[in-house]
Amino acid sequence: MGCEVLCSKCGRKTENLLDYKCSCGQPLEVHLKINFEVKKIRARNYSVWRYSRFFPYVKETEIINLGEGWTPLVNFSDNSYFKLENLNPTGSFKDRGSTVLISAVNKLVEKAGGCISEDSSGNAGASVAAYAARAGLKAKIYVPEAVSGPKLNQIQSYGAEVVKVSGDRSRVAEEAQKAEKRKFYVGHILHPVFRDGIRSLAYEIAEQLSWQAPECVYLPVSAGTLLLGVMKGFNHLVKSDAIENMPKIIACQTQQVSPLYHRFLKSSYTPPEEITSIADALVSVNPPLLNLMVKSLREANGDAVMVEEYEIFSAFKELAWKGFFVEPSSAVAYAGYKKQLKNKEASKDDKTVIILTGMGLKTMLKPSQ
Ligand SMILES: [Zn+2]
Repeated sequence: MGCEVLCSKCGRKTENLLDYKCSCGQPLEVHLKINFEVKKIRARNYSVWRYSRFFPYVKETEIINLGEGWTPLVNFSDNSYFKLENLNPTGSFKDRGSTVLISAVNKLVEKAGGCISEDSSGNAGASVAAYAARAGLKAKIYVPEAVSGPKLNQIQSYGAEVVKVSGDRSRVAEEAQKAEKRKFYVGHILHPVFRDGIRSLAYEIAEQLSWQAPECVYLPVSAGTLLLGVMKGFNHLVKSDAIENMPKIIACQTQQVSPLYHRFLKSSYTPPEEITSIADALVSVNPPLLNLMVKSLREANGDAVMVEEYEIFSAFKELAWKGFFVEPSSAVAYAGYKKQLKNKEASKDDKTVIILTGMGLKTMLKPSQ
């Protein structure tokens, strides 16, 4: 059907779109066997689904859509552009993953009379809850016990069942994955189809720049779905000759949560006992996809940058004062760009896209603090 789902380690193939990992325990990946063709874009559809031909495992009649994608790419200054992913239906880029994932599995779950489960107290939890609601599916969202604030309120507002779990973040994931009758775990970090949906972001950037890929793309990295999805999309475009060169992808991390940065630069990393960063969506100190991220970033000649708290806050404030109210985690990408400009590791002459991942209404932080 134009693609297959294979284990990233042992190569085993699965036919079941509900599988979230291989029987050997390693992550699964969607492998495309079709080329990207500009003439196959549904030009009058202004959502992720203008690229529906390149998601061959989703049936057109089963698409669950809230108007996600085709977000603006605005020129900021010189050759830098912001991709406004904060303008997606639930306020973050995660909607790209959710629309593709829920479209791919909703009939399977419905036929089994089941519900879906996900572990996330943040943007992914809210996004999956929204798309489950649109599909008429019951969703159980597992969150850490202490969680509160606008994102939890958003998850509950979509009607999802919130299950609070005590203990650390890995305990929350364990509970969400625990086998229960007719409960299907579709966790966004592991599920290959969620990650695959993020590919659409690369297609959009290339199309909005008239198929001239930018020189650089800056994005924040936590669990790695954004990084891996965007790289996969650009790789697909290069292999299909839709763009000439792969942009340089720069993974931006916080000083507190920087396992990829350290592994990439071959230095050691010890996570703090408690994460207190204002970039509170970036929490993966031990991401299950770390090996995959390092490998992909090296193969693509990418780079990684780490920013300090004061740099994140200053970037958050600067963005807001210029009219871009995003959550502090999104400001990490802009802070990374500014840092590399300052260190002469980046140039203002290069066409650069900075992905603003989530909206400012999700934060309680005030720029005047
Ligand atoms: Zn395997």
